[in-house]
Amino acid sequence: MNHKMKNLFGILLILFFSVPALMAQKLDYTVSFDADNRYVLIQLKASGLTGDSTLFRMPVWAPGYYLILDYPKHLTGFRANGADGLPLDWQKRGKDGWLIQHPGTSDVELSYRIFANNQSVAESKINSERAFLAPNGLFLYVDEAKELPVTLTIRPDERWSEITTGLAPVPDAENCWFAPDADRLYDSPLLLGNQQVIRFELDNRQYELALETPDGIEETTFVADLQKMITQAIALFGEAPFQHYAFLLMGKGGGGLEHLNSQACFTSGSFRFANEADYRRFLSFITHEFYHLYNVKAIRPVEFEPFDYGQEVFTPMLWVSEGLTVYYESVILRRAGLITPQQACETLGRFIRTVESREGNKAMSLRESSYDIWLHFFNRNANRDDVIISYYDKGPILGLLLDIAIRQASANRKSLDDVMRTLYQDWYKTAGRGFTEEEFWAVCAETAGDPLTEIRSYVDTTTPIDYDRYLGYAGLQLDADYTLRLTKCEGLAKAIQQSIF
Ligand SMILES: [Zn+2]
Repeated sequence: MNHKMKNLFGILLILFFSVPALMAQKLDYTVSFDADNRYVLIQLKASGLTGDSTLFRMPVWAPGYYLILDYPKHLTGFRANGADGLPLDWQKRGKDGWLIQHPGTSDVELSYRIFANNQSVAESKINSERAFLAPNGLFLYVDEAKELPVTLTIRPDERWSEITTGLAPVPDAENCWFAPDADRLYDSPLLLGNQQVIRFELDNRQYELALETPDGIEETTFVADLQKMITQAIALFGEAPFQHYAFLLMGKGGGGLEHLNSQACFTSGSFRFANEADYRRFLSFITHEFYHLYNVKAIRPVEFEPFDYGQEVFTPMLWVSEGLTVYYESVILRRAGLITPQQACETLGRFIRTVESREGNKAMSLRESSYDIWLHFFNRNANRDDVIISYYDKGPILGLLLDIAIRQASANRKSLDDVMRTLYQDWYKTAGRGFTEEEFWAVCAETAGDPLTEIRSYVDTTTPIDYDRYLGYAGLQLDADYTLRLTKCEGLAKAIQQSIF
């Protein structure tokens, strides 16, 4: 959004709140807390509903976290009243639906409580000190009307002083945020508590860094490094598709989740890293979630449009969304000067060693690992490594091979960057939709000027990869123990190696 857009947005907001007849259909949420007992208390005022009954639903999963979480299991004390305060009849519809009967009135008020005590980037957790709110597991949407605008008024526990989120604040309203539709609401987690907040501006964009456990931050170069990373990620696409971006960096834990203009990540619990390598891993992880704002939020498999929050959404292309994002962690950090060519090479080599040392690589293709993620997201079976592979491990290998193959075929005039840019510009921005599997491969082939048939077979099947051939194009050598090394080379190989590393 530019400044003019921002002003327009402000005017629209004012119109929205002052001329209710124009946009009568809306959802107004009020959120309060029984923090000591770990409950989030939700009140929903739904206005302008049509017909005699409305089906409200709660998502059962969160985009980016490909696992059915069945959020409604944490909901209790459901009540429905009319605008006159009298109870309305309602029936449960499936595990995630509440059908409210409201003959003669278009306004209803719902209330319920959510028990929030799961530690995960996709689930809410509160205690007396803080609250992490994962919206998918808190808020209902109107079935068949996810486009309804939403306001969120938060009444924080008096012990909490900060609220950090990617949502846009409602002008002149205290602790009130606005989401133009359910998708935006669900893509905007909130962190409430006493986090340290660092704000900075970079190239006309506002950034907010919320640190739940900031110990040691002053002694690191983290904020400066973050800015270098952001600059390189944005440079790849030529624009930043947001005005404001929030990093919600929580305390000790595992996992991170990407959002439209924010990310929620657990950390190691402080900024006192055991060694340089630990710090680089942390930077990689933050880079991963940031790059996702392009790859998966903007550039995304067509199956994700629109999001079906009521069931699994299957796509064979998560290796593009996740695996190529892992590849770009190294590419972006290298371009930002935050890792050395050798470090980038070591990181990518580790993925090759992991994949090639597991029997699962012969049992499952990369394409299949994307499609079946819903079965294997937390597969902890004893035979796991023998039967599955992860797109987090094999995906970045294909990222490297694709990048090299495109550069080789085009005399280093084109690269995987061009594929990502084309998908961003032509699909996300111009066509306004996601890409199909065939379209992805067509863009790769067109960019390379080569059908890349063999590379595709490494994705679609378990065909052994001819590493020597592709790595050789970039002067890379894979030792017998799967150590990946940069070698001295000349000509096109040298140019390709220097472009990537
Ligand atoms: Zn990811």
